[in-house]
Amino acid sequence: MQDIFQPEVRLWQHIEALIRSEMETFAYREIRTPVLEKTELFVRGVGGGTDIVKKEMYTFSDKGDRSVTMRPEGTASVVRAVNEHGLLNAGEPVSKYYYIGPMFRYERPQKGRLRQFHQFGVECFGSDSPFVDAEVIQILYNILTKLKLSDISVKLNSIGCPECRPVFRQNAEKYFGAVKDKLCVECNERINTNPLRIYDCKTPSCKENITGAPVILDHLCEGCSQHFESVKRALAQIGVPFVIDARLVRGLDYYTRTAFEVTSKHLGAQDALGGGGRYDDLVSELGGQKTPAIGFGMGIERVVIAVKTQNIDLGLGSGLRAYVVPLSRNEAEYAFKLLDILRKADISAQMAVSEKKTGVHFKDAEKAGADFAVIIGEDEIKNGTLTVKDLRKRSQQSVSEAELAAYIKNN
Ligand code: AMP
Repeated sequence: MQDIFQPEVRLWQHIEALIRSEMETFAYREIRTPVLEKTELFVRGVGGGTDIVKKEMYTFSDKGDRSVTMRPEGTASVVRAVNEHGLLNAGEPVSKYYYIGPMFRYERPQKGRLRQFHQFGVECFGSDSPFVDAEVIQILYNILTKLKLSDISVKLNSIGCPECRPVFRQNAEKYFGAVKDKLCVECNERINTNPLRIYDCKTPSCKENITGAPVILDHLCEGCSQHFESVKRALAQIGVPFVIDARLVRGLDYYTRTAFEVTSKHLGAQDALGGGGRYDDLVSELGGQKTPAIGFGMGIERVVIAVKTQNIDLGLGSGLRAYVVPLSRNEAEYAFKLLDILRKADISAQMAVSEKKTGVHFKDAEKAGADFAVIIGEDEIKNGTLTVKDLRKRSQQSVSEAELAAYIKNN
């Protein structure tokens, strides 16, 4: 779990502002759900056989002896909330929600993998249209490209529906049964319970044996196949590049049909920036009406790492524009008035309050990340002008008090 502070926190704020603006454009509305939920929600929603539920949840009994869990992901909570508050229409207009917030997973920490991390996620309820799939994938792609991230790859797959799974399962059971001596203990259990999970296993010998395994993409029913073709066409139409990855299954049990993930070449082992998929049966499994839905989760820490690793200049700066420096105690009151003038003009400003040598004040101003130092000495007060030093250009200019705010705004 990590503390996040200056200057990195500005990048976080920038990413969050970009998300909110993009969400306005795509007509998604924010939803804020609690961090704690009943444990049962995730066992039912995420799936009892997943690593998240089996190994990674922060679960404890509260003082009322109820088993509660700090949310490991956002979708189950959003589905619970929309069911509970009757926020779902059976059809159109579709209900579109997004969230930004902390998630908790007791995983082995490494670069890009934390125990408290933050996700931005979207959930769209009420339509099984392939255009909705394309829209959701486009949102993730847009945000990452607006952050100037390059070398990202959108991986796309379909993992079918309850109609196409039985034949796939038979073939997968046959295939994995024949190589079961080479699979880990857990995957041996998965052969008959949930063979899709084997595709996600990180054990080297399992990974080797997945290469030749049957994939669900070759077993799609007519409906799933048509849906997948339409999603691909819609993505091509709006210029979202993608590659088909027939082995992409995602780590959660609730997906049906479309599954996708966006990866970055700059992240090392934990290379997924975000991922999601369609979950047409989850709302009803969690007690609601049958409602088709799709969503994704994006890891903000990973996006931050990718932006920093690629040295992307988003022009953020420190945000501080003016550092007001009274040269002695005699100018302090005037400096305080000036500080107020700047702030009333919505200019981010700070004032030096201790007496120091002028050169040291300049160093402080730079350390604080200010664009300008505004110097007030005896002469400045006498002449009614201020010395404004541009700390980026290393130039200096005399500016009158009346013009100061406009000068800073325009430079
Ligand atoms: P998931 O729902 O597990 O696919 O997670 C969605 C996204 O959240 C991933 O693509 C990552 O970017 C991010 N993420 C998941 N787990 C972690 C973690 N432990 N630490 C940091 N980011 C994570």
